[in-house]
Amino acid sequence: MSDSPLSETATEAVEALLDEVTAEPQPQPLLQAENLSGKVAIVSGGSRGIGRAVALELARCGTHVAFCYLDVGDESRREAEEVASELRQMAVRVFFRSCDVRESSEVGSFVAETDEELGGIDVLVNNAGIGRDSPMWRMADHDWEAVIRTNLDGAFYFTRAVAPFMRAQEYGKIVNITSVYGIRTEFGISNYSSSKAGLIGLTRSSAVELGPKNINVNAVAPGYVRTTRLTEGVSPEILDRARERSALGRLGDPRDVAGVVLFLCSEAARHITGAVITVDGGYVL
Ligand code: NDP
Repeated sequence: MSDSPLSETATEAVEALLDEVTAEPQPQPLLQAENLSGKVAIVSGGSRGIGRAVALELARCGTHVAFCYLDVGDESRREAEEVASELRQMAVRVFFRSCDVRESSEVGSFVAETDEELGGIDVLVNNAGIGRDSPMWRMADHDWEAVIRTNLDGAFYFTRAVAPFMRAQEYGKIVNITSVYGIRTEFGISNYSSSKAGLIGLTRSSAVELGPKNINVNAVAPGYVRTTRLTEGVSPEILDRARERSALGRLGDPRDVAGVVLFLCSEAARHITGAVITVDGGYVL
């Protein structure tokens, strides 16, 4: 032990240090998503399924949400209104309306209106998507075009429209909802597979072009997820086979996808860009 007494200032510093190291550690949440509070997100196709789950998760983090859907009748309007009221219950601002993602000019005005209504754009989730399955030799032009235009053109139009906002503020998070069928394929889905593989290409190109302005662009590739689209459009036999094929032996839930989207929008993922994360219970293994 040294004979020389510590100076008063040094003693205080040692005591402060001891206080710090003996203080009860505060548990930290695994996912740091506080950075999303007060931000503004656009979710395309937010009126049901995966888009709805993503919109709700973002709102739970305090993010103001704009979402679009395709008005094809009373049912789609009612679903959209229900989601809007669920979001408002979380005390965030909400902007929603029908906007066909296949139409470049409609997407442009939706983005401009989101900026006016909610004050900026920080997050974009390109989720709107459809399938029109048939063998390629029987596939009608309109079934090819509808899928490519919704799943790929729509994501491009939205990405291009938000880019000036995100580049100017040097901050942005873009997440594209692709599919395991953008990575592998099956019989009868050439339009869907091509659109989702194209979306992975768009993800990587956007990551390269927008990265220098601190904008992260990533893709999430779900396997079979229990949404109305799936339960109404896919036979029980195919769903059983999907369950058997996946390592975890189950289908996904929309919230399984939403959690990963949230992670990619959080600061925990600040160094991830151009990535494709499968959320498929081990389906593609
Ligand atoms: P849903 O059919 O449940 O929801 C699709 C959403 O997109 C709805 O809000 C729909 O609006 C909207 N939409 C469709 N076409 C347009 C359009 N032209 N313009 C604007 N909005 C549109 O789909 P899921 O939740 O199942 O799928 C969401 C995404 O996840 C899709 O991209 C899909 O390919 C992908 N995915 C889904 C999987 C699954 O198993 N469910 C698996 C892998 C990927 P409206 O309801 O008004 O028609």
